[in-house]
Amino acid sequence: MATLDDRLQHVYDKVIRRNPGEAEFHQAVHEVLDTLAPVAAKHPHYADAAIIPRLCEPERQIIFRVPWVDDRGEVQINRGFRVEFNSALGPYKGGLRFHPSVYLGIVKFLGFEQIFKNALTGLPIGGAKGGSDFDPKGRSEGEVMRFCQSFMTELYRHVGEYTDIPAGDIGVGGREIGYLFGQYKRITNRYESGVFTGKGLTWGGSQVRTEATGYGTVFFVQEMLRSRGEELDGKRVVVSGSGNVAIYAIEKLESLGATVVACSDSGGYVVDEKGIDLDLLKEVKLGRRERLAAYAEARADADHVTGGSIWDVPCDVALPCATQNELSGRDAEVLVRNGCTLVAEGANMPCSPEAVKVLTEADVAFAPGKAANAGGVATSALEMQQNASRDSWSFDYTEQRLAEIMANIHQRCLETADEYGLPGNYSAGANIAGFIQVADAMLALGV
Ligand code: GLU
Repeated sequence: MATLDDRLQHVYDKVIRRNPGEAEFHQAVHEVLDTLAPVAAKHPHYADAAIIPRLCEPERQIIFRVPWVDDRGEVQINRGFRVEFNSALGPYKGGLRFHPSVYLGIVKFLGFEQIFKNALTGLPIGGAKGGSDFDPKGRSEGEVMRFCQSFMTELYRHVGEYTDIPAGDIGVGGREIGYLFGQYKRITNRYESGVFTGKGLTWGGSQVRTEATGYGTVFFVQEMLRSRGEELDGKRVVVSGSGNVAIYAIEKLESLGATVVACSDSGGYVVDEKGIDLDLLKEVKLGRRERLAAYAEARADADHVTGGSIWDVPCDVALPCATQNELSGRDAEVLVRNGCTLVAEGANMPCSPEAVKVLTEADVAFAPGKAANAGGVATSALEMQQNASRDSWSFDYTEQRLAEIMANIHQRCLETADEYGLPGNYSAGANIAGFIQVADAMLALGV
């Protein structure tokens, strides 16, 4: 990785020493510090109060054992995490990820990103993340429920509507939130709706929360295109992933006249030149919880490709919506060669540092996840507002609020990038704008 400005390099070296082996966390910190030199130069009082080193150290890190009994009667042990990273702007807020790759370094990278993302929404939420190395794949309903109940039996003592509000992420959707919230309610004897977001619509959830990350990413892309005098209609788009983010990004893209020609899961990708059939995709992934191969089997026009990279499929716009570091430097080179002009991250940190470098040097418009995918957590904050006022808003009104928030984030990124002499650099704009907001609150609140 490129060396940083002297003082920031010193902070970064210390982060590496204090957090050995946490490669994803190092990467996320480096990416932010890499853009903060002009801010550090302009505002020396941040350094005097050690704001950056304080931001890089989570306020609290909780690691716990999650024992549960599988369908064969055997005891299984997983590890649970909650990293409460920063609460300068509001109670800790961020999702839970259940995936075998989860370890402290992943949770910390996600929690760190969440601080800036949440600040950019303009809503009063701090940053956190949690999860477990539990693999829900292939597990029965009963096993998922028992795992969630055991996870919550420890986590309940650390969360609360004024303390820390979890939600979903990879492997955690409405079903899991239900089991987690149910256990919280059972243990505490409180119907504290505001302790979780991503709840079902009949028990305190918000309209649009399910769709929000995908829709929000597309609203952000619309703003990016508008600022270049273009529109989505007629664009050829590749969306990686086929989970909650990807599915609703595809839904919004298709409703705005774009053609989504490919999507993926861990078993490969499908290419469907006529445009992904959304009903079939939803039936396979959400209804039957099956692999994408089943999509290709059911649709004559579609090809299923195993091995290789989805980024080999030519497109105008690329939306990585699967997972961290899924788009490499080599993939970025292929995208550039094939004429792609815009990449927006629906997932958290899906582009490797090499990929971001290739895209930026080739003048491809690039939106980092902490700006482009902030619609999910922003709508979570809207869910908290509705819970606090015992209200529930219509789909159209909530979607309108989401669209306004995404347009504001877009404008803030561009204005901040301009102010610091980096026009069109969304990464710098997002990091600097988010940082200043959190830093000022930390200064105000004292050491
Ligand atoms: N996991 C989502 C994210 O990466 C949403 C978090 C939330 O709604 O709290 O932002």
